[in-house]
Amino acid sequence: MKLTSPFKTQSPYEEIETARRGRMVIAVCNAAILFSIPLIVLLTIVMLPQMSPAMVLAYALCIGIMPISFLAKRIAISGKPDSGSYVLLVYILLLLAINSVVLDGIYLMLVPGYLLLIVIAGMMLPPARGYIIAGLASATYLAVTIIRTYVEPSVSLPLPVIELIVTFLGVMTFIFVVFINQLTTKDLRKALDNATYDLVEMNKKLELASEMKSQFTARTSHELRTPLSAIIVFSDLALRDAYGPLNEKLRNALSHVSNSARHLKRVINDILDLSKIEAGEIEIFDEPFELMNLVHTVESSCLQMAEEKNISSSIWVSPEMPERLSGDDDRLAQVLLNLTGNAIKFTEKGEVEVRIEPQGTSKWRMIVRDTGPGIPEDQFTAIFKAYRQLDRTASPSKVKGTGLGLAIAYNLVQKMGGDIKVESELGVGSTFTVTLPLRLPETSDEEVLKSL
Ligand code: ADP
Repeated sequence: MKLTSPFKTQSPYEEIETARRGRMVIAVCNAAILFSIPLIVLLTIVMLPQMSPAMVLAYALCIGIMPISFLAKRIAISGKPDSGSYVLLVYILLLLAINSVVLDGIYLMLVPGYLLLIVIAGMMLPPARGYIIAGLASATYLAVTIIRTYVEPSVSLPLPVIELIVTFLGVMTFIFVVFINQLTTKDLRKALDNATYDLVEMNKKLELASEMKSQFTARTSHELRTPLSAIIVFSDLALRDAYGPLNEKLRNALSHVSNSARHLKRVINDILDLSKIEAGEIEIFDEPFELMNLVHTVESSCLQMAEEKNISSSIWVSPEMPERLSGDDDRLAQVLLNLTGNAIKFTEKGEVEVRIEPQGTSKWRMIVRDTGPGIPEDQFTAIFKAYRQLDRTASPSKVKGTGLGLAIAYNLVQKMGGDIKVESELGVGSTFTVTLPLRLPETSDEEVLKSL
C-alpha cells in the first residue's frame, strides 16, 4: 500500500535528518578549511618555482577550496544544508577534473579522490540526490580518461581497464548502499509520520475534551452555587431564630448544614476559578485599596482558626509599606487566605507568621511562614499544579483539601505579574513568599510618598 505523508511541511524524521546533514556539511567544510591550509603551503613551495599557466590554474583552484568551504558553511548555517553540499561537492569535483587534466601526476588521484567525494555526498545529501554526484563523478572520470587517451595520446595511462572496473564497482556499491538506505528509511519515515499524525490528532481531541470539561465544570459549578447560597442563607436565618426558637438538637444539625454548605461553596468556587484560569478567562482588576483591609480579612478568617488549634499566629505589616495600593484586593486576599489557611491547616504545633513588607523600591512581598511538617524539595514544583497533594497519611490529624488552593494562588500571582516561591525543611516548617510589583494608586501618590 502506498503511504502518503500526512504532513505538508517537514515530518519529524525529515527535521532530524536535515539537522544531521546540516551538521555534517559544517563538519566537512571545517575539515576542508583546515586541510586547505597545509595544502596551500605545500603547493606554494612545490609549484611556485616552476610556474606554468597550468600550474597557476591548479594552484588557484586549490586555494579556492578555502573561500568555497566558507561559503558552503554559511549556506548550510542559514538553513540550506543541501545547497551548501552542492556548492562544495561540485567545486571539489571540478578541481579534481581540471587538475587531473592539466597536471600530469595528479591523474592517479582521480579515482580515490572522487570515490571519497561520492561517499561524502552520500552522507551530506538526501539519499536520492547522492546519485547526482555519483553520476557526475562517473561522467567526469570517463570524460577525463577520454580526453587524456584521445586528445593527448602521448600520455601513457596505467591500466585504464582496471581503473574503469574499480570505478564501476565503486559506483555500483555506492548506488546499492544508497538504495538500501533509502528503502529502509522510507518505511521508517512513513511509520514515524503516521505515528506523529496520530498523536497530533489525539492531542487535538484531548484539547477539545479538556475544553468541554472546563465548560461543563464552569456551567455546573454555577448551577450548584445558586441552591447552595439558598441553603446557607436559610439555615443562617433559622439559626438566628428567624423562624422561631430552635431546640438544641435542631440547632446543632442546622449548624452542620450551614458549615458543610459553606465548605462546599468554597470548593465549588475553587473549581470555578480553576476552570476560568484554564480557559484564560480570569480577570484581574486594578483598583486602589487599603492594605489594612487585606490584613483584616486574613485576621478574621484564618487567625481565629489558629486559635482553635492552639497555634500562635501573627500578622506583621512593615511600617515602610504604603497604606494604599493599587491592584485586585479580592484576588490578593484569596492568595493570602489560601497560603495562610494551608499553613494553619498543616501545622500541629508552633506558630504561623504572616509578614508584609516592601522589596526594594518596585516590589512588595507577602511571606507566610509556618512550623508545620514541611514539604520535600522534589515536590516544590508539583504542589503548585492542580489536584496535587502530598501523602499525609502519616499525619496525626486528617487534613482535608482538594489540591486546588496553591494552583489557584500560583496562577493568580502570575497573572498579577508576580512570583510565588516555597522554601521548606521537613520537620521544621515551610515559608511561602509571594512577590508582587508595587503599584500605587495614581491619585494619592503624594499622600503615599509623605507616609513613607
Ligand atoms: P490542599 O491544601 O487543598 O490539599 P493546595 O493546593 O493548597 O491543596 O496544597 C497542595 C498540597 O501542598 C497540600 O495537599 C499539602 O500536601 C502541601 N502543602 C501546601 N501548603 C503546605 C504547608 N504550609 N505545609 C505543608 N504542606 C503544604
